[in-house]
Order: sequence, then C-alpha cells, then structure tokens
Amino acid sequence: MYLTIDGVKKSFQHNQETLTVLDDIHISIEKGQFVSIVGPSGCGKSTLLYIIAGLVQPDDGAVRVLGKKVTKPSPNRVVVFQEDGLFPWLSVTENVTYGLKLKRLSKEEIKQKAHDVLKMVHLSRYKNAYPHQLSGGMKQRVAIARALVMEPDILLMDEPFAALDEQTRLVLQSELLNIWQKTKVTILFITHNIREAVLLSEKVIVMGTRPGNVKEVFSMPPATRQIVPNRETLSIEQKIFSVLQGEIEKVLKEEMGDDYSFQTNRDDSDFTRHLGSHL
Ligand code: ADP
Ligand code: MG
Repeated sequence: MYLTIDGVKKSFQHNQETLTVLDDIHISIEKGQFVSIVGPSGCGKSTLLYIIAGLVQPDDGAVRVLGKKVTKPSPNRVVVFQEDGLFPWLSVTENVTYGLKLKRLSKEEIKQKAHDVLKMVHLSRYKNAYPHQLSGGMKQRVAIARALVMEPDILLMDEPFAALDEQTRLVLQSELLNIWQKTKVTILFITHNIREAVLLSEKVIVMGTRPGNVKEVFSMPPATRQIVPNRETLSIEQKIFSVLQGEIEKVLKEEMGDDYSFQTNRDDSDFTRHLGSHL
C-alpha cells in the first residue's frame, strides 16, 4: 500500500478538558488513487489532512508513505486549502513559482515549469495578473497550480471548491479530473458535498464524529469518472447520506439540547433535491 494511516489518534486541550478529535483512524490509499473524505463539520477532517501533510503530529499511530513514517511537511505532499492563500503583492507567475525557490533550479527551468502548470490550469493568459484581478475560481486555479508545480506525489485538498459558486465548482471539478488523469498524482480530497465526493473519487471515506472515526468506505464503480450523476451514483449518494444523517443528528442533539426537534423519521423521498448542497 502506498499511503497508510495506521491507528492515528489526536486530542486537543480545550478549557482544561481533553477533546478527542481523531480516534484510531485506519485508511489505506493506493498510488494514483483519488480518495474523498466526507463527514460532519468538526469531525476532524482538516486535522487528519494536516497530520498527513506533516503539519500536525498525531498523539498515537502514524502516517506512512511507502512504509516511511511522516514526521514533517514535504514538497512531495502539498496542501490546497479552501482559501487560496495567495500573496496579493505577487503576480500569478510569482505566486506559482514561490515554492520552487527552495529547489535549486535555473531561471529557465522555473520559467518552463510555471508555463507548463499555468497551461494545465488554463491560466496562461493571466500569468502577469495579480490576485485582485482574478475571480474566485481563477484564484483557486492558481492555488492548484502552485501545488502542482512542486510535482508532488500526493495532493491534499481541504474543501478546495467550497467557497466557489456552483458553475465555477463544476468547471474546476472537471479540470481537476483532467489534471489527475494527466499527472497520476494521488489525491486526498476533503469535501462536505456528497455529490462532489461520489462523482470525483474512486473511493469515498465517510467519517463519523465525537470523536472522529471512519464510519464506512465506499468504492465507486469505475464508470462514474464524470461529473454528471446517474442512477448508480445517486444510489451511492443516498447510502452515504443515510450514514451521515445519523452523525449529523448526533451533533445537532448535542448542540441544541432540549431545542432539538429534527425529525428523525422524516420521509426521504425528496432527498435527492438536497444532495449536492452542503451538509
Ligand atoms: P473538520 O475539518 O472536520 O471540520 P477540524 O479538524 O477542523 O474538523 O476540527 C475538529 C475539532 O478539533 C474541532 O472541534 C476543532 O475545534 C478542534 N481543533 C482543531 N484544531 C485544534 C487546535 N489546534 N487546538 C484545539 N482544538 C482544535
Ligand atoms: Mg475542515
């Protein structure tokens, strides 16, 4: 197995209480796989991603890439965040090549890599623009280009399209699929959009909460690598939705206490209308 998460545990101290965020997480990912994680807000998805990135250390267990324990960040495992995180005072090209300065490359090599990667995200025409001149979708493309230019083996994406409007999101989803097919990069993609997870990935990991744990793993049929839902993907969406519904109700009950009045046995016939929207 290429990337393994073996018994990862993580707690944080909060108001003198220990909050267990991740409890004994086990996940295996093959090289080149596209894997999504869905789960209720606060179940520890970002924390897990940061542990894989080497930005946060687990209390117990380990993340391993080809058997080697992850202990610190590496350009081989880059993160794309929900916020683009671009430097406003740098041009698109300068933002994209910023991380390359750590590698010893000639000016020509850097220029070529920036050219290639900007072409891949369809931003060649904007190479000299500044972030404030770009739309939200274009900024997120720059963020993806900045990650890809490092030529990582693993791309870690934390709700990268959550702040985008629906149309832009659809465009970026299909671009991401193309990039994945071209580069063969291994992608771990966090989203709270069930449809997005089902349509993009080969495997969907559903996390439960309090503490965060792996509830169920869904393998997608190979024919679904496109961004239009069909009968089969809708049926998987429905299964994932029912797993998550129980988890979300658990959180609501805890947060609302006596005010909790969410109908647990409500009719699910109109459920597909809700899918694709955020949980
Ligand atoms: P998700 O991404 O699934 O919404 P997070 O991983 O961001 O969840 O957070 C999970 C829980 O851990 C939340 O309750 C959050 O407040 C808590 N948490 C995350 N990071 C820290 C930290 N550095 N210190 C204390 N608590 C944290
Ligand atoms: Mg998060």
